[in-house]
Amino acid sequence: MESLPSTQSLTCKLKLLLTQEQAEAVRCTALAYRSALNHASAVAFAHGKMSQGMKLQTLVYQDLREKFGLPSQMACNAPRQVAASYKTLWERAKSNATHKAQGWTKRRYRGLDKAPKFTAMTVTLNHRRDWSLGKEHTVSIGTLQGRVRCRYEGWSRHLDWLEHTAEQGITLGAAKLWQDPVSKVWYLLVAIEKALDTQAMDNITTVKGVDLNRRNIAVESNTRGKCRFYHGGHEKHLAERAASTRSALQAKGTRGAKAVLRKLALRERRLNADTAHCVSKAIAEPRAMVGMEWLKDIRDRTERRHSKKSSPKRRKANRKVSSWSFAEVQAKTAYKTRLAGGVPIWVDADYTSRGCPVCGHVGPENRPNKGLLFVCAQCGHTLHADLVAARNISMRTLLIRQDWVRTGRLSAAPEASGDEAKAARLQRYAELRWSLDASSGL
Ligand SMILES: [Zn+2]
Repeated sequence: MESLPSTQSLTCKLKLLLTQEQAEAVRCTALAYRSALNHASAVAFAHGKMSQGMKLQTLVYQDLREKFGLPSQMACNAPRQVAASYKTLWERAKSNATHKAQGWTKRRYRGLDKAPKFTAMTVTLNHRRDWSLGKEHTVSIGTLQGRVRCRYEGWSRHLDWLEHTAEQGITLGAAKLWQDPVSKVWYLLVAIEKALDTQAMDNITTVKGVDLNRRNIAVESNTRGKCRFYHGGHEKHLAERAASTRSALQAKGTRGAKAVLRKLALRERRLNADTAHCVSKAIAEPRAMVGMEWLKDIRDRTERRHSKKSSPKRRKANRKVSSWSFAEVQAKTAYKTRLAGGVPIWVDADYTSRGCPVCGHVGPENRPNKGLLFVCAQCGHTLHADLVAARNISMRTLLIRQDWVRTGRLSAAPEASGDEAKAARLQRYAELRWSLDASSGL
């Protein structure tokens, strides 16, 4: 069980307007920090691929201070960061072992075969000790050559929050110096906590479901029957074109081709991020409870489809799936909904596109020829298949809203309490029937 969060964490990306001299000081610091990370990584590797931050810190702290010249905070941050990376790698190795045991993959995880190398130009900075905000959009950053004070630019909303931290309910956290590898421009990525409008979240007036799928980016429907399709036509076209260019370049395999491939990958990622931003912004609204499908296992599901036996058609479909990051759209929708004063929740994804919202009949025969149209084999109810899913999700969301009102406790995501509890939830979902008066009990 989860209760309503009172804050939302997010990152403000600030472009630093550094003089040449300041940029050099920042660059030297990042180089020293990167060497320190790689040193700590080698030590951790030699000590059983260690993932405990404090232990690693004891081993390397003195060296990082004396040999790499790091100030004390950075000499603590570096081993912590390295240990955290090892922890992630260990988790991946473990999940790979499970997947191998299940027969989903034959590949052995190689991420822990040698010490991970840190190549990015980044420095982790603690608030107040290594970085602090000044007046009139300035920031002060600790470097090996002393403090650097400069102006910054950023998204107007973020600038407003940082200018008025107290009024806007902003708490500042750690920051990361980061150099864009292409433009070579330095940014400060500031982690913040924003206080949420809990009053709006307590006064829900709309309940809606959002279905993410391959044809459209998203389809939403509220329990009053209002719906909206977010088409990705243009983006889909671009992604497909990029994919064909990519395979041509991969076949070429030269150094130049590889460089172009890297640039293409970056552009595609940006494009996807833009789309995710626009869609999630449009979905988020105040006093709305926004239900999404619990897709925690989606990576495993797509991974399994990548077998050698897959047909070219299947592979083409996979490419489209993997280029859309459902997780990214969901995560953005969740945090934008919270910031707008709404409540995001997750429901079980089972049968959302196969169950009839009107009579409850479930089955693959409700999708004749696996087409775009849903035609209920029992009652004849006919609707766009993606809208069926969005409506089913909206009804499940309404059920959770009603539970919340009744018990005072919100279950924001399906509980991991075993098959029995899940079966009970699915049983309740199966009894839901679509009617436009359903939302009267908000
Ligand atoms: Zn039906």
